[in-house]
Amino acid sequence: MVKAVVGANWGDEGKGKITDMLAKDADIIVRFQGGANAGHTIVNEYGKFALHTLPSGVFHRHVTNIIGNGVALNIPVLFHELQSLAGRNVPMPKLLVSDRAQIVMPYHILLDEYEEERLGGKSFGSTKSGIAPFYSDKYAKIGFQVSELFDDGILKEKVERVCEQKNIMFEHMYHKPLISPSGLLETLREYREMVKPYVCDVSVYLEKAMKEEKTILLEGQLGTLKDPDHGIYPMVTSSSTLAAYGAIGVGIPPYEIKQIITVCKAYSSAVGAGAFVSEIFGDEADELRRRGGDGGEYGATTGRPRRMGWFDCVASKYGCRLQGTTDVAFTVLDVLGYLDEIPVCVGYEIDGEVTTDFPVTVKLNKAKPVLEVLPGWKCDIRGIKEYEDLPENCRNYVEFIEKQIGYPITMISNGPGREDIIYRKK
Ligand code: GDP
Repeated sequence: MVKAVVGANWGDEGKGKITDMLAKDADIIVRFQGGANAGHTIVNEYGKFALHTLPSGVFHRHVTNIIGNGVALNIPVLFHELQSLAGRNVPMPKLLVSDRAQIVMPYHILLDEYEEERLGGKSFGSTKSGIAPFYSDKYAKIGFQVSELFDDGILKEKVERVCEQKNIMFEHMYHKPLISPSGLLETLREYREMVKPYVCDVSVYLEKAMKEEKTILLEGQLGTLKDPDHGIYPMVTSSSTLAAYGAIGVGIPPYEIKQIITVCKAYSSAVGAGAFVSEIFGDEADELRRRGGDGGEYGATTGRPRRMGWFDCVASKYGCRLQGTTDVAFTVLDVLGYLDEIPVCVGYEIDGEVTTDFPVTVKLNKAKPVLEVLPGWKCDIRGIKEYEDLPENCRNYVEFIEKQIGYPITMISNGPGREDIIYRKK
């Protein structure tokens, strides 16, 4: 059975924790999109880890971890993460890398940096991991597949051809030093040695696994609102964050994805620029940021303080719908225990009219939040295992949100650890 774990919002919903928790009963965990630009934070018996490239199953010995063809594969980052696990006594994970995955090249990272520099104040707030230049090249058909590393002839010819084009941009557009084809070829030969033990035809591997009725988890990065088609374009990421893309990003039929677990955080946070209707500011935001997540809401990759806001039913209903949600995992609920009252965004007012349908970016920029205020529960809910044992106001908060978004909240996370979870019947 294939399940997907994806985000409903701007990312950082706690997908890493939910995946790590579900990994206990999974055989295979596959990443299907994105790159090392975002990270998952996982807390377990080995400590606290921020993973950027490795799938979240790497802490379970029985799990095979796979990097699918849809991922922007940064080979040195992958290698570095593997080494850092070993350095902290995590047993070497089982890892496979798709022979069709494409490689983030050193010049993608440079182009990201140079472009942000050129844009100055108008920049996208990129994490400078080379993701946008990488996907641009993939669709411009000048990307490098892992499989190509193993054919020296093809590699040499292509490196020369691509360097010629990149150097025109480096010289005339950015006025930066040129790249040397021979140096790049040498780097790619090093990449080949790093990745060689893991390369695999992932689609064939998964077809066999499905026949053997293995449990396969597709692990998404970021969330619906960062999807290039359905998100807050242009403040989006460069690969699809939707469960539907999971089929493409690993090479399986779409109808094989039977369960779609969409992760929603009990309040909102976002990194980078772009519309964020339920955003809050000042002391109110600082307090939520400080208390949020596990040790504060700061980017797992960048350490940047996240923008904070109240739960947004409009964005989350849309986020769940576009994912094709079968189950909502509602996370970080414990953090809200300090509040007397909890505002929730239940509608957007745009040009004097209230809507609950998430609009396109031009309209979104004009939206003002319509808030409803629910009573807080004023206690610590960590450690509670049964839904019925949650304080009444806390259950009311969950049920109010469930009704607003229209998808069943079947899991409630009340702490960062694997065991901090409350299952609820549909
Ligand atoms: P991801 O990219 O979606 O995995 O999100 P993050 O890496 O930003 O994870 C969110 C943060 O919240 C991490 O620091 C997690 O350890 C933490 N976290 C996840 N679930 C919970 C929860 O239920 N309660 C608390 N307090 N922290 C949580």
